[in-house]
Amino acid sequence: MLTAMGDVMRSAYKKGWITTRDGNISLKMKDKDSLYITPSGWRKTILHPEHMIKIKITPAGYNLPPGSNPSGELSMHLKLQRYHDKTRSIVHLHPTHIIAAVYAGWDLQELAKEFPEVSRYTKVGPTVPVLPVVSYELAEATFEAVTQWSTTGTNTHKFDIVAQAGHGVCAIGKNPWDAYEHIERLDHICEIVLMSGKRPGER
Ligand SMILES: [Zn+2]
Repeated sequence: MLTAMGDVMRSAYKKGWITTRDGNISLKMKDKDSLYITPSGWRKTILHPEHMIKIKITPAGYNLPPGSNPSGELSMHLKLQRYHDKTRSIVHLHPTHIIAAVYAGWDLQELAKEFPEVSRYTKVGPTVPVLPVVSYELAEATFEAVTQWSTTGTNTHKFDIVAQAGHGVCAIGKNPWDAYEHIERLDHICEIVLMSGKRPGER
């Protein structure tokens, strides 16, 4: 699965969903108190298993290997991964059509209901507002969007993907390709809707 982390990044790069050094992925295996995450600033086209950084999750926070430079979005990954005992991969990319659709004012949850190719397989969560990249606010807001923690009091992942306005998406799967497929499905319908020329509210 560490190989899949690099493969997903290469595929995302080919699709134009990231520029060379963008995006990040984490992977936490079942019942483990550690996760693997992609390095910061690394060219994602040459990302391989030996580049992944293994981070130990502790009750108070986490321990980094000395000299390591993990993704700047580490706090978002830790927040989403910390409470899970099943194998999970979190994939953060900048898929063009999803970001464009949000920018144009589309409600992705409403949009997904109209397209069974998405609604049958992918649960789309509410869009996170514009927040600074690599900030704790973005990590908190993404966690809230995925779990609805403030109303349910549980930290279970309720959605497979949420968009982050003006920035990207965070998708969750049982492996990196599974998370990638959620992004692919949603990006596809966003591309269709944008190509239709319709605007939000027009029917
Ligand atoms: Zn990003």
